[in-house]
Amino acid sequence: MKIKDLEFKKFLTADRIEKKVAALAGRIEKDYQDKTPVFLPILNGSFMFASDLIKEITIPCRVSFVKISSYSGTLSTGQLKTLIGHDESLFGTDIIIVEDIVDTGLTLTKISEELKNLGAKSVECVALLRKAPAREKNVPIKYVGFELETEFVVGYGLDYDGLGRNLRDIHIKVG
Ligand code: 5GP
Repeated sequence: MKIKDLEFKKFLTADRIEKKVAALAGRIEKDYQDKTPVFLPILNGSFMFASDLIKEITIPCRVSFVKISSYSGTLSTGQLKTLIGHDESLFGTDIIIVEDIVDTGLTLTKISEELKNLGAKSVECVALLRKAPAREKNVPIKYVGFELETEFVVGYGLDYDGLGRNLRDIHIKVG
């Protein structure tokens, strides 16, 4: 499959993703039985994952969206825009950051710091995908769906220059 100048092949089917999302939701529910967590999906990439994940959660919870980005094209620019969104007070809350993919961990580290400064009681993360750099740097992510190396992926909310977010499966760049 081609998106603009790049070639992609199927990597994770919608069916595999669905099963993994249900398993992640199950673990979260168990850990947060007596709490009312606030899910904090990081837009834009995690909208589809967050929607499917939160539908599986049956304990009381809140959802608040934020936006931050360090990517332009397929390479991390290393420059982070500020955290925008979170209209409600997050003071004293148990936050679960919902990330589509964690690569260098810069985005996640920055958001976690900001949330702790805002007085969050606890901050954890659920990431559908984790790349090698975050694994090697031991960026704390409590719930991880799938591991990959440094390949670029699209689909299930993830884009390449704005395209491919609508795909049900996750595709990996070839070559
Ligand atoms: P980090 O700050 O961890 O380096 O980058 C995290 C963000 O970069 C993710 O939330 C996502 O938006 C973007 N990103 C990282 N790897 C990929 C990838 O393989 N594909 C796409 N589409 N976005 C990625």
